[in-house]
Amino acid sequence: MDLAIECALFVVGLALGSFLNVCISRLPRDESVIRPRSHCPACGAFLRWHDNIPLLSWLLLRRRCRHCGARISLRYPAVELLTAVLFTACYMSFGPTLATAKLCLFCFLLVGLIFMDAETGLLPREFTYSGIVLGLALSWFAPTDSAATQFFLRACGAQLPAPALLALLDSAIAALLGAGFFYLAWALYYLLRKRHGLGFGDIALTAMVGAFLGLKLVLFVIFSAPLVATVYAVFLLLPQRFRKTPEMDGAPTGQSSDRERFLAQELPFGVFLGACSLAAVFFGESIWRWYLRFY
Ligand SMILES: [Zn+2]
Repeated sequence: MDLAIECALFVVGLALGSFLNVCISRLPRDESVIRPRSHCPACGAFLRWHDNIPLLSWLLLRRRCRHCGARISLRYPAVELLTAVLFTACYMSFGPTLATAKLCLFCFLLVGLIFMDAETGLLPREFTYSGIVLGLALSWFAPTDSAATQFFLRACGAQLPAPALLALLDSAIAALLGAGFFYLAWALYYLLRKRHGLGFGDIALTAMVGAFLGLKLVLFVIFSAPLVATVYAVFLLLPQRFRKTPEMDGAPTGQSSDRERFLAQELPFGVFLGACSLAAVFFGESIWRWYLRFY
């Protein structure tokens, strides 16, 4: 029975991943995700149904458009496969519960946002704002782990509300705290450097993560995402520091301008927020438990 449900969720994930690809291509450009129907981005030819089957069509067409022969981006099968794997993993981790349905929706939104931010540097409100509302509403039915909020309420000497209300409170506090933390970081950076280090999309995305995951896991994301982004940035910068090619010896401005160009461009921070949130869904609980062992 479990295997049948896992297979069904995998297929649903592939189909929704295919819809995500349309969203990723069109939402950041303010285009409709319904019309026109799927077409090749290179030649504009409409796709027939058998050229539009998730994963399979990409393989059967040997990664090329049937009409013009343009290469089809690896992003299409990657998004479909990732969505399918995440849906199946949600079921394997959380079983036949409302939490699985809620977390599948969360993964769907995250995969879309990660790829939109990576490709365009934009995190469309259609995803982040509706994610905040859905996350808050669904916490009533599939409660978050409210251990952190309970801890703070007890520390303040306050009475614990009923479980459903407690989950809603936990989800709302997490959304506000997540957004507030990065809003503060954005304001500080702006005061110091006089330019934007984060976008408002990143702030809205963190609020969405808080609404879905609750206070305990949003704290994990707030801590880990900047850390992973910093490690990534250092790894990008290191080779430039130590690489010395003959051409660069001849060009006095080469090395520093490369570095400055890199630092000036904005890192798509939403990618790191999204990836760490996906990690939080499946590993956040165990990482917290591991961390708390030291106290
Ligand atoms: Zn084409």
